[in-house]
Amino acid sequence: MNVRINDICEAIEQWAPRGLAYEWDKPGLSIGEPGAAVRKILVCLTVTREVYQTARKAQANLVVSHHPFIFEPLKNLRSDDPHTRLCLDFVHAGIACYAAHTNLDVVPDGVSGVLANALELLNPKPLFTVNHAAMLKLVTFVPESHLAYVRDAVSEAGAGIIGEYTHCSFSTPGVGTFKPSSKANPFSGQKGAVNEEPERRFETLVPKARLAQVLKALISAHPYEEVAYDLAPLENRDTTVSLGIKGTLKAPMRLSAFAHMVKTALRLNHVRMAGTPKRQVRTVAVLGGAGGSEVSRIPGDVDVYVTGDVKYHEAQAALLRGLAIIDAGHAGTEKGIVPVMASFLRSRFRGLPVAAYNEAECFTVID
Ligand SMILES: [Zn+2]
Repeated sequence: MNVRINDICEAIEQWAPRGLAYEWDKPGLSIGEPGAAVRKILVCLTVTREVYQTARKAQANLVVSHHPFIFEPLKNLRSDDPHTRLCLDFVHAGIACYAAHTNLDVVPDGVSGVLANALELLNPKPLFTVNHAAMLKLVTFVPESHLAYVRDAVSEAGAGIIGEYTHCSFSTPGVGTFKPSSKANPFSGQKGAVNEEPERRFETLVPKARLAQVLKALISAHPYEEVAYDLAPLENRDTTVSLGIKGTLKAPMRLSAFAHMVKTALRLNHVRMAGTPKRQVRTVAVLGGAGGSEVSRIPGDVDVYVTGDVKYHEAQAALLRGLAIIDAGHAGTEKGIVPVMASFLRSRFRGLPVAAYNEAECFTVID
């Protein structure tokens, strides 16, 4: 099997398009040759020296992480700086580094989706809309005979999703005109003459982050040599993506019991809890990673917020609003994505070895 690094990047970005990452983020390939063949992949949460050593030992030549390895711009490549030294070690060992970060946070079945599944939340709904998840209207003109084929192709590439409905589109009949030059190779009609062709005007919604793959599918499915299409920006936002998830527990339970449940479900040594242990909780908001700064935006009907990296004053502000907090740690709320990414890659690239790196807890609790 000849899989290139670029093939891996493209597959992950079909799931988590890079255009869904926040502007400040640095997802993508940070080290490596995009055209190089992949021997073995090691998936991890954060690129560390232990990850580098594990990749070398396993003879993996691509590390796929959640956190970007190079985040702050490098000022030099000195080997006496621990981070740039690690960068150089990856380069010298021929091991590439790729990250899917905030783009993987916001997609369905991404970081918060995995967290919500682990806690068995029912009726999961978006917690916060993602303002940069813009939508476009795609309009194209298709001969009747190919309408269903084109519709299915663009829909399977990510167009036409509204809530639980896929393949959403609208079409109206009309007449297209065109005059092919002597060099053209028209699907129908005569060269050098103005032709009229019965067509359907087909329109559908496209998430901007998936535009490239939708246009690729359109052009490959459409029978015409030159495909006429219009793209118009919309005020609509892509509601299939969200920062965090809100859902409910099967039945109300005490906050302290829920905290234990989170600890067990996420296989952690400890979690931190803020709130009255005996209070009943049922509506839960989850946000994998550093979610402390979002406390003030959590909707009023949420009983408890599960996230990581919550500061003292953020927890106090939550308690003042009647919101309980379970801080299950930054890595604790994100590490569930590592085996999910690894199985995604295994199913997309059958036969390619993919290992998942099980990160040790960063902090040790001293009682
Ligand atoms: Zn994170």
